Amino acid sequence: MDKRLLILGGTGEAVALAREAVARPGLHVITSLAGRTRSPTQIAGEIRSGGFGGADGLADYLRDAHIDLVIDATHPFAAVISRNAAEACTAVGLPRVHLIRPEWTRQDGDNWIEVEDIDAAAAALPEAGRCAFLTVGRNELARFAGVKDSWFLVRVIDPPDEPFPLANCHVIEGRPPFTEPDESTLMTAHAIDVVVSKNAGGAATYAKIATARALQLPVVMVRRPAPPDGPVVASVTEAVAWLDAARDRA
Ligand code: NAP
Repeated sequence: MDKRLLILGGTGEAVALAREAVARPGLHVITSLAGRTRSPTQIAGEIRSGGFGGADGLADYLRDAHIDLVIDATHPFAAVISRNAAEACTAVGLPRVHLIRPEWTRQDGDNWIEVEDIDAAAAALPEAGRCAFLTVGRNELARFAGVKDSWFLVRVIDPPDEPFPLANCHVIEGRPPFTEPDESTLMTAHAIDVVVSKNAGGAATYAKIATARALQLPVVMVRRPAPPDGPVVASVTEAVAWLDAARDRA
């Protein structure tokens, strides 16, 4: 009987992993999305969408859906679902691996102001800059509402369907990957003097960091939350190798 793989998704790596996994014999592949993006990228295999209801709800799902293997390929800042996945897999006794792409590291010419969390990023403004390219994700915007004397350029994947929590902002739509020439044009046109970013890692959104370096702009860089304990791989290739080994044991 086919082994059933659950990929916790919402990233480019999860999409690539589903494509690889579906092509392997003897696997039924389900990708889970939080359901926040209105028109998610096409994904190979079965898709399910929406929260599970915490770690207990996820454990119930794993049992009910007869899942054999779990790969957590969520975003490095999606700390809650990763913690829940670790807890639920332990409770159910399932093998799990966490695919975490390497973080960005400081290069010569970078002017990073590294901070522990989003609130600390907001506190770094307006001193770090008054025209901020705010690229921390829609869910975190309200945390910048108290920042005075700053203007924000905000990029979102889907058009906003409710008023933004920031008074002085301009909202644009865009879906990664982004290129350096485009980021440079955008940041220059809006007279951006600081970039606020999570240390997401990966190539798809790195252009803003490279552009900030080229334009000699500071970057308020939010450090990653610590992942839960357990096995970690750093690439889709490594995740597939884990899958091949774990499938034979499951
Ligand atoms: P989070 O704070 O870790 O999770 C909040 C809740 O959302 C979870 O408790 C879970 O609800 C639900 N959830 C999250 N990811 C899910 C998934 N793949 N499938 C089903 N339910 C999920 O997550 P987040 O930071 O809001 O991120 C949400 C999604 O966006 C993730 O899939 C992540 O990969 C993607 N994403 C996040 C970021 C980021 O910066 N955080 C950036 C790009 C993409 P229940 O407790 O009800 O199960």
